[in-house]
Amino acid sequence: MHFPLSQRLIAHLDMNSFFASVEQQANPLLRGKPLGVCAYLHEYGCVIAASVEAKKLGMKVGMTMSEAKQAVPNAVFVQNDPPKYRAVTSRIFTILHEFTDRMEHYSIDEAFLDLTGWCRDAAEASFVLSTAKRRIKEEVGDWLRCSVGIAPTRFLAKTASDLKKPDGLTIITHENIDDVLSRLDLEDVCGIGPRMRRRLEKLGYKTLLQVKYGSTENLIRAFGVNGFFLQAKLQGVDTETVKADGIKTAQPKSVGHSYCVPERVNREKNVEATLMRLTERAGRRMRGLGLLANGMSVSVGLKTPDGPRPQGPFWTPGTDGPGGSVHTWFAEPSDDSFTLVGTALDLLRELWTGQSVNFLAVTLFELGPPTQQTRFGLRVEGLREEMEPERRQAVSKAVDLIRDRYGLNAVMMGGMVGLGDEAPDRIGFRKTEGVDVALNS
Ligand SMILES: [Mg+2]
Repeated sequence: MHFPLSQRLIAHLDMNSFFASVEQQANPLLRGKPLGVCAYLHEYGCVIAASVEAKKLGMKVGMTMSEAKQAVPNAVFVQNDPPKYRAVTSRIFTILHEFTDRMEHYSIDEAFLDLTGWCRDAAEASFVLSTAKRRIKEEVGDWLRCSVGIAPTRFLAKTASDLKKPDGLTIITHENIDDVLSRLDLEDVCGIGPRMRRRLEKLGYKTLLQVKYGSTENLIRAFGVNGFFLQAKLQGVDTETVKADGIKTAQPKSVGHSYCVPERVNREKNVEATLMRLTERAGRRMRGLGLLANGMSVSVGLKTPDGPRPQGPFWTPGTDGPGGSVHTWFAEPSDDSFTLVGTALDLLRELWTGQSVNFLAVTLFELGPPTQQTRFGLRVEGLREEMEPERRQAVSKAVDLIRDRYGLNAVMMGGMVGLGDEAPDRIGFRKTEGVDVALNS
């Protein structure tokens, strides 16, 4: 099948060993040393970034700290520090925004730049990106390195940036694409994982070029629309555009906190308290963003009978080991600690009956900005019993004052929201002493 070729000019920039390089930039004593940045400084905390030096010695992202220590005995470990990385990212992205108005913040250390119209050809784009690389070193930090790929499509630009690490710059054009693909393994491109690889090989596709020039019908039969797109991407067809976003990173869809629970917490029976603290922190972060959550999930990892098992960064409780996840939706968008903590504890009780725990996580999801309405957590039934008569009276009077000033609908009981015209307000026109009487009531 023949596709029209893309005439676009896309660059992908990927910071190398980003978290570890930022730590080395911040602390000169760490430079040149094998360094692991861990989710937690705990033997089961996993390595989420390894410095270039550590990678050379065999440290891999996803190892637990104890595995990493075994692989690289003289390695140094630090706990991750997200605010530091975000601050560096925003300085890098600010520089990149000077080169194009169409840039996509793909992740904390990756961006796509659409240079179509800004640069005449790949050679000019490579000059621009070299300038960007130099400016990152001069203006953000001389220890920071990045790999750049330039190509006619997003997919090929990402493939290109992966080819030379660290500090590389690779260009893929319609002329050299087959040469590049012939030197790559099936799994070297985004979208082919071990499973897809096995299925491709079973169908007789051993190389990327075989996929590129093979029968489209067979690929569609085997992989559906994904097979079609994979082949199109390898042929250099623009299947996805750069989703330009502003200089601010997009509003998060969820916030969460997780924790590899140390033995001590189990011994001291502090599992619930730890979850409460995680929940409070997630809530605080969400309130800092000015958002409310519509739902919450809680995950618990339980220790296996034969001791704890190491967990990689992509471990999901319930699928890879004992434990699990549960979630729920709030009756109304919430951000207050009482609702959040109360819900987290309810969810915990569904999953956990006092066993030893090695992982806890809480996520607040479906975040959104507050609406104009402000809600008060008062329930009519509860109010009668829980409040002293004087206070009930005071609340009612306060509500009257608010309505006098701002109108009848300024305050209403929750059960009345959305009532519509069920109980319309009447304006009395037969004036009686002290009482308004509506004729048709
Ligand atoms: Mg990277």
